[in-house]
Amino acid sequence: MKKILIVGAGPVGCYLAHLLKRQAPFLKVSLIEEHPSSGEPLHCAGLVSRSVFDEAQIKFSEDSIINWIDSAQIYLNGDTFQIMKKEVAIVLDRKKFDHNLSKNLDINYSTRFFSIKKDKNGYIAITDKGDIYADIIIGADGANSLLRKTINFQDNVQYYSAAQVRLETDNIKRHQVKVYLKKPFFAWVIPETENICRIGIIGNNPYQSLIEFLKEINLQGRILEKFGGILPLGFCQTQKDNLALVGDAACQVKPLTHGGIYYGMRCAEVLCDCIVRGEIHNYESIWRSKFGKEIEMGLKVKRLYEDLDEGGLYNIFKFLKKNKNILEKFGSFDRHSAIILKLIHMRKFQQLLGTLLLRLI
Ligand SMILES: Cc1cc2nc3c(=O)[nH]c(=O)nc-3n(C[C@H](O)[C@H](O)[C@H](O)COP(=O)(O)OP(=O)(O)OC[C@H]3O[C@@H](n4cnc5c(N)ncnc54)[C@H](O)[C@@H]3O)c2cc1C
Repeated sequence: MKKILIVGAGPVGCYLAHLLKRQAPFLKVSLIEEHPSSGEPLHCAGLVSRSVFDEAQIKFSEDSIINWIDSAQIYLNGDTFQIMKKEVAIVLDRKKFDHNLSKNLDINYSTRFFSIKKDKNGYIAITDKGDIYADIIIGADGANSLLRKTINFQDNVQYYSAAQVRLETDNIKRHQVKVYLKKPFFAWVIPETENICRIGIIGNNPYQSLIEFLKEINLQGRILEKFGGILPLGFCQTQKDNLALVGDAACQVKPLTHGGIYYGMRCAEVLCDCIVRGEIHNYESIWRSKFGKEIEMGLKVKRLYEDLDEGGLYNIFKFLKKNKNILEKFGSFDRHSAIILKLIHMRKFQQLLGTLLLRLI
């Protein structure tokens, strides 16, 4: 019986383990997780599309869904507009989501992966609880993947930092997210209920920026929880011999929103199929054929956003405000290329971008 070891019992590692258990009962699948349980510490805003549940190849328990979103209010320097899209996203209790996914798996908790060495037929994973032999090792160990670093996979990864609080306050629009475009990055308010929301920001000094942001939007209340995290963007090598990366470890993340759950899960399905067919060497080309172009396009738009000056950004904001029906019609929560392509084919948008358009093309 071949042994597969997954490093990291986050949502993507656990999802992969369930798929392998179901599709390859001839494999022995186990996981190691450095924390004493899955889902903690929390570092997520928990906003995903319904597709995370609907497209999953196993049935996910829905008791982790705590709210749904029908609209987004977008802000830039005091100006604002609203995009409506019924049930465009759902809000997760991430702790419960991860915990549900971790059930019925062989997980060794409180076990930290350190490094790896080649054994004659497979690999030895060196952990703080001793050595573990495996024929195949998968790194699902998140943004700062130690497996990726240990095996020197080539990468071109940029790391962003985020901070978030859960705030108890009044008068929250329960089914609306608020997005504040704040160069060089952005901030969000995501409602859980009518009086609890998640407020977060991506920034170079995110905790300080978050304090300033809370003052700026004058949202007062009681802070229930504070947390932060690292968001990886870019590309990296994701497979070599019988080693592979998936999820945040593989940078399978949407560059414009930094959401990683949807792509990570779809890529786990690709990896599972490749392992089952004995074709792990095809994993990278298959997942890139599904999401590579999306990620590439998202990265270009993200860099453009970061490079635009305030005036240029405001002109684009006004254009989007005027054409918000296009955002409503063509915007997709998980596949941003549709709306990007629609916009860059509009003459007025091309004029606004000027020479920057060449970079997108
Ligand atoms: C502030 C913030 C907000 C976010 N908001 C959203 C959002 O709204 N929607 C969305 O889709 N995504 C969001 N994300 C991204 C999302 O959290 C990740 O894409 C998702 O968690 C990736 O899942 P994963 O299983 O690949 O990695 P992780 O969830 O990071 O899981 C990796 C696991 O590996 C374990 N691990 C790491 N190193 C080791 C080691 N050496 N040994 C053993 N175990 C190890 C970790 O403890 C962890 O449990 C957000 C991220 C941040 C930081």
